[in-house]
Amino acid sequence: MVWSIRSRASSLLCANAPLVASHVYESWWFSRFSGLTGSSLTRAWPKFMDLIQIDRCRAAASLPSIKEKQTEGPSYCVRLDRENKGLDEGNMAETDGYQNLFGLMKQRFMSFKNQKYIKELEHFQGLAEVQSPKFMVIACADSRVCPSNILGFQPGEAFMIRNIANLVPPMKNGPSECNAALQFAVTTLQVENILVIGHSSCAGIETLMNMQDDAESSVHSSSRNFIHKWVGNGELAKLKTTAATAHLSFDQQCRVCEKESINQSLLNLLSYPWIEDRVRRELLSLHGGYYNFSNCSFEKWTLDFKRCNVKEEGSSYAVKEQDFWC
Ligand SMILES: [Zn+2]
Repeated sequence: MVWSIRSRASSLLCANAPLVASHVYESWWFSRFSGLTGSSLTRAWPKFMDLIQIDRCRAAASLPSIKEKQTEGPSYCVRLDRENKGLDEGNMAETDGYQNLFGLMKQRFMSFKNQKYIKELEHFQGLAEVQSPKFMVIACADSRVCPSNILGFQPGEAFMIRNIANLVPPMKNGPSECNAALQFAVTTLQVENILVIGHSSCAGIETLMNMQDDAESSVHSSSRNFIHKWVGNGELAKLKTTAATAHLSFDQQCRVCEKESINQSLLNLLSYPWIEDRVRRELLSLHGGYYNFSNCSFEKWTLDFKRCNVKEEGSSYAVKEQDFWC
Protein backbone atom coordinates (compact mmCIF):
# COMPACT_ATOMS: atom_id res chain seq x y z
CA MET A 1 0.00 0.00 0.00
CA VAL A 2 1.37 3.37 -0.94
CA TRP A 3 0.11 6.31 1.04
CA SER A 4 0.42 9.91 0.01
CA ILE A 5 0.30 12.33 2.88
CA ARG A 6 1.08 15.97 3.20
CA SER A 7 3.50 16.40 6.00
CA ARG A 8 3.77 19.23 8.47
CA ALA A 9 7.04 20.19 6.83
CA SER A 10 5.51 20.27 3.39
CA SER A 11 2.68 22.46 4.58
CA LEU A 12 5.27 24.89 5.87
CA LEU A 13 7.23 24.78 2.64
CA CYS A 14 4.24 24.69 0.36
CA ALA A 15 3.15 28.28 -0.01
CA ASN A 16 0.84 28.69 -2.99
CA ALA A 17 2.59 31.76 -4.22
CA PRO A 18 3.84 32.68 -7.69
CA LEU A 19 7.38 32.00 -8.68
CA VAL A 20 9.65 34.98 -8.87
CA ALA A 21 12.20 35.39 -11.58
CA SER A 22 15.65 33.99 -11.06
CA HIS A 23 18.33 36.45 -10.19
CA VAL A 24 21.90 36.06 -11.25
CA TYR A 25 24.26 37.63 -8.82
CA GLU A 26 27.15 39.17 -10.72
CA SER A 27 28.96 39.53 -7.48
CA TRP A 28 28.82 36.65 -5.08
CA TRP A 29 26.81 37.92 -2.21
CA PHE A 30 23.41 39.36 -1.64
CA SER A 31 21.66 41.08 1.14
CA ARG A 32 17.95 40.38 1.47
CA PHE A 33 15.40 38.29 -0.31
CA SER A 34 11.95 39.25 -1.37
CA GLY A 35 9.07 37.53 -3.08
CA LEU A 36 7.28 34.31 -2.38
CA THR A 37 7.48 30.99 -4.02
CA GLY A 38 7.07 27.34 -3.25
CA SER A 39 6.37 23.94 -4.62
CA SER A 40 4.14 21.11 -3.60
CA LEU A 41 5.71 18.32 -1.70
CA THR A 42 4.01 15.01 -1.27
CA ARG A 43 5.40 11.84 0.16
CA ALA A 44 4.90 8.36 -1.20
CA TRP A 45 5.48 6.14 1.78
CA PRO A 46 7.23 2.79 1.40
CA LYS A 47 5.36 -0.49 1.29
CA PHE A 48 4.23 -1.38 4.78
CA MET A 49 4.41 -4.63 6.65
CA ASP A 50 1.26 -6.68 6.43
CA LEU A 51 -1.12 -6.65 9.36
CA ILE A 52 0.15 -9.94 10.74
CA GLN A 53 3.69 -8.60 10.96
CA ILE A 54 2.48 -5.38 12.56
CA ASP A 55 0.55 -7.25 15.24
CA ARG A 56 3.59 -9.45 15.88
CA CYS A 57 5.65 -6.32 16.47
CA ARG A 58 2.96 -4.91 18.72
CA ALA A 59 3.05 -8.01 20.86
CA ALA A 60 6.82 -7.76 21.19
CA ALA A 61 6.60 -4.11 22.14
CA SER A 62 3.52 -4.50 24.35
CA LEU A 63 1.55 -2.29 22.02
CA PRO A 64 -2.22 -2.60 21.52
CA SER A 65 -3.33 -4.63 18.53
CA ILE A 66 -4.94 -2.90 15.59
CA LYS A 67 -8.26 -4.55 16.48
CA GLU A 68 -7.95 -3.38 20.10
CA LYS A 69 -7.17 0.15 19.01
CA GLN A 70 -10.00 0.20 16.49
CA THR A 71 -12.44 -1.21 19.07
CA GLU A 72 -11.58 1.40 21.63
CA GLY A 73 -11.91 4.17 19.04
CA PRO A 74 -11.86 7.73 20.34
CA SER A 75 -11.87 6.61 23.97
CA TYR A 76 -8.43 5.08 23.42
CA CYS A 77 -7.02 8.47 22.44
CA VAL A 78 -8.84 10.19 25.29
CA ARG A 79 -7.32 7.72 27.74
CA LEU A 80 -3.83 8.30 26.36
CA ASP A 81 -4.33 12.04 26.46
CA ARG A 82 -5.37 11.78 30.10
CA GLU A 83 -2.42 9.52 30.95
CA ASN A 84 0.04 11.85 29.32
CA LYS A 85 -1.48 15.16 30.29
CA GLY A 86 1.29 17.65 30.77
CA LEU A 87 4.11 15.20 30.09
CA ASP A 88 5.53 17.14 27.19
CA GLU A 89 5.49 20.47 28.93
CA GLY A 90 8.55 22.27 30.26
CA ASN A 91 12.09 22.26 29.03
CA MET A 92 15.48 20.95 30.04
CA ALA A 93 16.35 24.11 31.92
CA GLU A 94 13.16 24.04 34.01
CA THR A 95 12.73 20.56 35.36
CA ASP A 96 9.90 21.58 37.69
CA GLY A 97 9.99 18.76 40.18
CA TYR A 98 11.33 16.05 37.98
CA GLN A 99 14.16 14.23 39.68
CA ASN A 100 16.66 14.93 36.95
CA LEU A 101 17.04 15.74 33.29
CA PHE A 102 16.69 12.11 32.29
CA GLY A 103 13.46 11.90 34.20
CA LEU A 104 12.10 14.61 31.97
CA MET A 105 13.65 12.95 28.95
CA LYS A 106 11.88 9.70 29.82
CA GLN A 107 8.58 11.51 30.15
CA ARG A 108 9.08 13.09 26.77
CA PHE A 109 9.90 9.75 25.19
CA MET A 110 6.83 8.10 26.68
CA SER A 111 4.76 11.02 25.51
CA PHE A 112 6.16 10.57 21.99
CA LYS A 113 5.42 6.86 22.13
CA ASN A 114 1.86 7.23 23.33
CA GLN A 115 0.89 10.43 21.59
CA LYS A 116 2.58 9.85 18.27
CA TYR A 117 4.05 6.39 17.70
CA ILE A 118 1.00 4.45 18.74
CA LYS A 119 -1.42 6.83 17.11
CA GLU A 120 0.50 6.54 13.84
CA LEU A 121 1.46 2.92 14.28
CA GLU A 122 1.26 1.78 10.68
CA HIS A 123 3.41 4.71 9.60
CA PHE A 124 6.10 4.05 12.20
CA GLN A 125 6.08 0.32 11.52
CA GLY A 126 6.67 1.14 7.88
CA LEU A 127 9.59 3.36 8.86
CA ALA A 128 11.02 0.49 10.87
CA GLU A 129 11.37 -1.36 7.58
CA VAL A 130 12.78 1.32 5.32
CA GLN A 131 13.45 5.04 5.14
CA SER A 132 12.78 7.13 2.06
CA PRO A 133 13.47 10.76 3.00
CA LYS A 134 13.01 13.50 0.44
CA PHE A 135 15.52 15.76 2.18
CA MET A 136 19.14 15.73 3.19
CA VAL A 137 19.59 18.54 5.71
CA ILE A 138 22.92 20.05 6.77
CA ALA A 139 22.49 22.37 9.72
CA CYS A 140 24.64 23.93 12.42
CA ALA A 141 25.20 21.94 15.60
CA ASP A 142 24.03 24.98 17.57
CA SER A 143 21.42 23.88 20.14
CA ARG A 144 19.09 26.68 19.07
CA VAL A 145 18.90 25.56 15.47
CA CYS A 146 17.06 22.25 15.41
CA PRO A 147 15.56 21.70 11.93
CA SER A 148 13.12 19.09 13.20
CA ASN A 149 11.84 21.64 15.66
CA ILE A 150 11.75 24.83 13.62
CA LEU A 151 10.77 23.27 10.27
CA GLY A 152 8.75 20.38 11.59
CA PHE A 153 10.65 17.53 9.96
CA GLN A 154 9.07 14.31 11.16
CA PRO A 155 10.79 10.92 11.55
CA GLY A 156 11.61 9.58 8.10
CA GLU A 157 11.42 12.94 6.33
CA ALA A 158 15.00 14.20 6.48
CA PHE A 159 18.40 12.54 6.55
CA MET A 160 20.33 14.99 8.65
CA ILE A 161 23.82 15.98 9.63
CA ARG A 162 24.77 18.84 11.91
CA ASN A 163 28.21 20.34 12.23
CA ILE A 164 29.81 23.55 13.37
CA ALA A 165 28.74 26.38 11.01
CA ASN A 166 26.80 23.99 8.73
CA LEU A 167 29.72 23.69 6.32
CA VAL A 168 30.11 21.40 3.33
CA PRO A 169 33.80 20.92 2.50
CA PRO A 170 34.72 20.69 -1.18
CA MET A 171 35.65 17.25 -2.47
CA LYS A 172 39.33 18.18 -2.73
CA ASN A 173 39.53 18.55 1.07
CA GLY A 174 39.14 14.81 1.49
CA PRO A 175 36.85 12.56 3.52
CA SER A 176 34.80 13.90 6.38
CA GLU A 177 31.74 12.98 8.37
CA CYS A 178 29.80 15.43 6.25
CA ASN A 179 30.60 14.03 2.82
CA ALA A 180 30.19 10.44 4.03
CA ALA A 181 26.63 11.27 5.05
CA LEU A 182 26.11 13.11 1.78
CA GLN A 183 27.24 10.12 -0.25
CA PHE A 184 24.84 7.79 1.54
CA ALA A 185 21.94 10.22 1.25
CA VAL A 186 22.50 10.92 -2.43
CA THR A 187 23.68 7.60 -3.85
CA THR A 188 21.76 5.16 -1.64
CA LEU A 189 18.71 6.99 -0.35
CA GLN A 190 18.53 9.13 -3.49
CA VAL A 191 17.16 12.17 -1.73
CA GLU A 192 15.64 14.76 -4.02
CA ASN A 193 16.67 17.85 -2.05
CA ILE A 194 19.71 18.98 -0.09
CA LEU A 195 19.04 21.88 2.26
CA VAL A 196 21.91 23.72 3.95
CA ILE A 197 20.64 25.73 6.91
CA GLY A 198 22.64 28.57 8.44
CA HIS A 199 21.61 30.90 11.21
CA SER A 200 22.11 34.24 12.91
CA SER A 201 24.83 34.78 15.51
CA CYS A 202 26.70 31.64 14.46
CA ALA A 203 29.72 31.19 16.72
CA GLY A 204 31.37 28.98 14.11
CA ILE A 205 31.23 31.72 11.49
CA GLU A 206 32.43 34.26 14.05
CA THR A 207 35.41 32.01 14.77
CA LEU A 208 36.12 31.75 11.06
CA MET A 209 35.95 35.53 10.66
CA ASN A 210 38.21 36.04 13.68
CA MET A 211 41.01 33.79 12.50
CA GLN A 212 43.97 35.93 11.63
CA ASP A 213 46.00 34.30 8.91
CA ASP A 214 45.98 31.62 6.27
CA ALA A 215 48.03 29.24 8.36
CA GLU A 216 45.49 29.44 11.16
CA SER A 217 42.52 28.87 8.89
CA SER A 218 43.97 26.30 6.52
CA VAL A 219 42.33 22.88 6.68
CA HIS A 220 45.80 21.46 6.10
CA SER A 221 47.15 23.14 9.20
CA SER A 222 48.84 20.83 11.67
CA SER A 223 47.17 22.72 14.50
CA ARG A 224 45.37 20.59 17.05
CA ASN A 225 42.64 23.18 17.22
CA PHE A 226 39.93 21.05 15.66
CA ILE A 227 37.47 23.92 15.56
CA HIS A 228 39.83 26.12 13.56
CA LYS A 229 40.64 23.28 11.21
CA TRP A 230 36.97 22.59 10.62
CA VAL A 231 35.72 26.14 10.14
CA GLY A 232 38.69 26.65 7.80
CA ASN A 233 36.48 24.83 5.27
CA GLY A 234 34.65 28.14 5.00
CA GLU A 235 37.76 30.11 4.17
CA LEU A 236 36.64 31.01 0.67
CA ALA A 237 33.39 32.46 1.98
CA LYS A 238 35.38 34.51 4.48
CA LEU A 239 37.69 35.88 1.78
CA LYS A 240 34.75 36.87 -0.40
CA THR A 241 32.97 38.48 2.51
CA THR A 242 35.90 40.53 3.75
CA ALA A 243 36.75 41.68 0.21
CA ALA A 244 33.25 43.04 -0.34
CA THR A 245 32.32 44.34 3.10
CA ALA A 246 35.33 46.27 4.38
CA HIS A 247 33.01 49.19 5.13
CA LEU A 248 30.86 47.12 7.49
CA SER A 249 31.33 46.40 11.19
CA PHE A 250 32.64 43.01 12.26
CA ASP A 251 29.19 41.90 13.37
CA GLN A 252 27.69 42.93 10.06
CA GLN A 253 30.44 41.09 8.22
CA CYS A 254 29.62 37.97 10.21
CA ARG A 255 25.96 38.21 9.18
CA VAL A 256 27.02 38.45 5.53
CA CYS A 257 29.44 35.55 5.90
CA GLU A 258 26.74 33.40 7.53
CA LYS A 259 24.81 33.60 4.26
CA GLU A 260 27.80 33.58 1.97
CA SER A 261 29.10 30.37 3.54
CA ILE A 262 25.76 28.69 2.83
CA ASN A 263 26.09 29.54 -0.85
CA GLN A 264 29.72 28.46 -0.87
CA SER A 265 28.60 25.15 0.61
CA LEU A 266 26.01 24.82 -2.16
CA LEU A 267 28.78 25.35 -4.72
CA ASN A 268 30.98 22.88 -2.86
CA LEU A 269 28.23 20.29 -3.15
CA LEU A 270 28.67 20.47 -6.90
CA SER A 271 32.32 19.42 -6.56
CA TYR A 272 31.11 15.88 -5.84
CA PRO A 273 30.44 14.19 -9.20
CA TRP A 274 27.59 12.04 -7.87
CA ILE A 275 25.84 15.22 -6.72
CA GLU A 276 26.62 17.29 -9.80
CA ASP A 277 25.37 14.50 -12.06
CA ARG A 278 22.00 14.24 -10.32
CA VAL A 279 21.59 18.02 -10.19
CA ARG A 280 22.38 18.22 -13.91
CA ARG A 281 19.73 15.55 -14.62
CA GLU A 282 17.26 17.46 -12.41
CA LEU A 283 16.93 14.56 -9.99
CA LEU A 284 18.34 16.61 -7.13
CA SER A 285 17.88 20.24 -6.06
CA LEU A 286 20.17 22.24 -3.80
CA HIS A 287 18.65 24.73 -1.37
CA GLY A 288 19.87 27.27 1.15
CA GLY A 289 18.10 28.35 4.32
CA TYR A 290 18.85 30.99 6.93
CA TYR A 291 17.18 30.99 10.32
CA ASN A 292 17.30 34.27 12.22
CA PHE A 293 16.41 33.43 15.79
CA SER A 294 16.54 37.04 16.89
CA ASN A 295 13.34 37.86 15.01
CA CYS A 296 12.21 34.32 14.18
CA SER A 297 12.33 34.57 10.42
CA PHE A 298 13.48 32.07 7.83
CA GLU A 299 14.88 32.72 4.37
CA LYS A 300 14.84 29.94 1.81
CA TRP A 301 16.27 29.84 -1.67
CA THR A 302 17.27 27.35 -4.36
CA LEU A 303 20.50 27.21 -6.30
CA ASP A 304 19.89 27.94 -9.99
CA PHE A 305 22.28 25.35 -11.38
CA LYS A 306 21.90 26.37 -15.01
CA ARG A 307 23.02 29.90 -14.22
CA CYS A 308 25.91 29.00 -11.95
CA ASN A 309 29.48 29.19 -13.05
CA VAL A 310 31.33 26.44 -11.25
CA LYS A 311 35.09 26.34 -11.57
CA GLU A 312 38.10 25.91 -9.36
CA GLU A 313 38.67 29.63 -8.87
CA GLY A 314 36.16 32.47 -9.08
CA SER A 315 32.95 30.48 -9.04
CA SER A 316 29.72 32.43 -9.10
CA TYR A 317 26.26 31.33 -8.26
CA ALA A 318 22.68 32.19 -9.06
CA VAL A 319 19.62 31.56 -6.95
CA LYS A 320 15.92 31.24 -7.62
CA GLU A 321 12.69 30.55 -5.75
CA GLN A 322 13.58 32.86 -2.91
CA ASP A 323 11.18 32.91 -0.03
CA PHE A 324 11.06 34.83 3.23
CA TRP A 325 8.96 33.48 6.07
CA CYS A 326 8.28 35.85 8.91
ZN1 LIG B 1 26.14 28.01 14.08
